[in-house]
Amino acid sequence: MKTVLITGASRGIGRELALAFGRAGYGVGVNYAKEKAAAEKVVQDIWEAGNKEAEAFACDVRDSIKVRQMVDAMIVRWKRLDVLVNNAGITRDRTILKMTNGEWNDVIDVNLNGPFWCLREAARVMSQQKSGAIINIASIMALRGGFGNANYAAAKAGLIALTKSAARELGRFKITVNAVLPGFHITDMASTLTEEQRERVRAEHTLGQTTRMDDLTRLVLEVAQNNSISGQVLNVDSRVAA
Ligand code: NAP
Repeated sequence: MKTVLITGASRGIGRELALAFGRAGYGVGVNYAKEKAAAEKVVQDIWEAGNKEAEAFACDVRDSIKVRQMVDAMIVRWKRLDVLVNNAGITRDRTILKMTNGEWNDVIDVNLNGPFWCLREAARVMSQQKSGAIINIASIMALRGGFGNANYAAAKAGLIALTKSAARELGRFKITVNAVLPGFHITDMASTLTEEQRERVRAEHTLGQTTRMDDLTRLVLEVAQNNSISGQVLNVDSRVAA
């Protein structure tokens, strides 16, 4: 049985990815930072859909030691790690002139440092296995920049550069590393946007609709299973990026 570790899988996109990998028969590590009950509900939902191979793992991805312990715990349970999805992310929006050091650092810590700790630990295991897939969930902001979220755009652009570097280094171990830009989804992350702001985002979509969650989860599963795609940035979106 193949296994996947998905960071930030208690809510939003991570939750949907966990359910999709669960339906596909993977052993699913459901990582969360704070929302234990929500993560356990994801595990329960995977079980109820007929797959008993799911477990919640508490770990703040900012803590590299805890990340190592989480990956070790995955290996204790399943003996292997086939897929890492670096999905956990936060926003701390503020225009540059008003942005505090804390707001800058928090976003870099969760959205760039955390994925690096996770990628490094996954690569440690996958390089021994001589197989694996790492998928970093970035954002269209990395390509276009954003007004009021320079910290987020910079972290996600860094994540794309990390993706390409890791693909170059890890290909010799048959590990694929790709970035997926998930499109726009009304999750808790988007909850601070006003209806007017949401409408403006929706209007940019050339297909007249935002990304469907099932289209995103299908693409991530495909990337996880495809042995010929690495070092790529896949944009599940109908907004023209740049
Ligand atoms: P969300 O609904 O706000 O969920 C965020 C998830 O990240 C939660 O499960 C949360 O876990 C987890 N998390 C936050 N800080 C963490 C930490 N320090 N350690 C471990 N987990 C942590 O977000 P989302 O909208 O699903 O976004 C998921 C990913 O997609 C993010 O990387 C985001 O940047 C990216 N993205 C989203 C959109 C969008 O339109 N929603 C667009 C582009 C990119 P707890 O609740 O347990 O703390």
